[in-house]
Amino acid sequence: MKAIAVAPGAGVPEVVERPVPEPSPGEALVRICRVGVDGTDYEVIEGSHGGVPDGDDRLVLGHEAVGIVEDANGTDLEEGQYVVPTVRRPPAGVETNAYFERGEPDMAPDGEYVERGIVGAHGFMAEYITSPAADLVPIPADLAEWGFLVEPISITEKAIEHARATRSAFDWQPESVLVLGTGSLGLLTAAMFTETLGYERVYCLGRSDRPDPTIDIVEQLGATYIDSRETPVSEIATAYEPMDIVYEATGYAKHAFESIDALAPNGVAALLGVPGDWEFEVDGGRLHRELVLHNKSLVGSVNSNRGHFEAAIDTLAGLPDWVLEGIVSGVYGLESVERAFPEATARVPAGGRGAAGTVDDDTTIKTAVEFEGI
Ligand code: NAP
Ligand code: BGC
Ligand code: ZN
Repeated sequence: MKAIAVAPGAGVPEVVERPVPEPSPGEALVRICRVGVDGTDYEVIEGSHGGVPDGDDRLVLGHEAVGIVEDANGTDLEEGQYVVPTVRRPPAGVETNAYFERGEPDMAPDGEYVERGIVGAHGFMAEYITSPAADLVPIPADLAEWGFLVEPISITEKAIEHARATRSAFDWQPESVLVLGTGSLGLLTAAMFTETLGYERVYCLGRSDRPDPTIDIVEQLGATYIDSRETPVSEIATAYEPMDIVYEATGYAKHAFESIDALAPNGVAALLGVPGDWEFEVDGGRLHRELVLHNKSLVGSVNSNRGHFEAAIDTLAGLPDWVLEGIVSGVYGLESVERAFPEATARVPAGGRGAAGTVDDDTTIKTAVEFEGI
């Protein structure tokens, strides 16, 4: 079968031949339809995040997938049913551990998990995959076309759940939201805040010149576009309004600290980005004081569990088609797979993406690879 693999830090994604996997007891065989590409894939490709399974020199990419059950193999799944796989699995050679037994693999520390297509396990960019049936979340056929968006939406389901949990000890009525980043995660999240969570005061920070399709989406959502080159995050509270919620999806490390100034008293910032090392100066005393004297909260959030995937499927059903069509700027077959990775093929800057910016054409927002039509 065909798969898409990369030698992290040393190459671009390429189509390779792999044997069709055979399901073990408790696993199903899934024919993959579509797999999304996100910022993490580029971090994996350039070798700044994740890693290959032991003994391999290449990693099959892909962690945002939708497929169709080809062989249920005696599990509860039905052949022909569309499913979305979750990302984390126990480490190689380990059947389970306390995090997986509790259904909370997203809370496992390093060493207690692998992530398919990211770290320590091959991913879903292949014609077929096998997976424990318990890690395959059924999705209605009428949503399958967009099923590869369930994983990134689930990331935000988790982050919002954890952000809310930090504010659950008092009567918190959030009204204003700032999303940092107009990449695929930022735009999906902005759409969730306006379209399914019903927020009216949503702001979204980018660094693009008009005309730009990401700005168009932000504005069609009824949100306010803020250009970080004109208004740094630390000045947003004064220039616009203090924010009850900040959602960071830039991976730009200064934003973690500048978010503290963007927050309203009692607000919470969820940090999602995965930056490389970067030393810079901050006024730690002032920021510490600001957090304490105004009951502010910063919460980091990574990955998501099956419950978040199930919530994400409901959310996906509530997102209008124009948003999904706008965010997914291209779906490409294996014959033009390089078009699904425009940044990997066009760009080789030193110092990482956040440092160097991107050089793909400015109409690409999010791409997907199609193995099998839906
Ligand atoms: P992405 O497509 O690369 O989007 C990042 C966006 O942030 C880009 O549009 C980028 O703009 C923008 N940005 C970077 N620095 C900025 C600045 N100083 N001012 C304004 N905008 C800035 O990545 P993604 O897939 O949306 O993911 C976003 C981040 O979340 C990444 O760091 C990714 O690793 C992380 N992530 C984390 C999780 C998790 O579980 N915690 C899950 C998914 C993704 P340019 O296009 O101009 O560079
Ligand atoms: C994935 C998560 C993963 C995280 C860190 C994200 O892009 O969507 O499932 O936990 O990267 O590797
Ligand atoms: Zn991801």
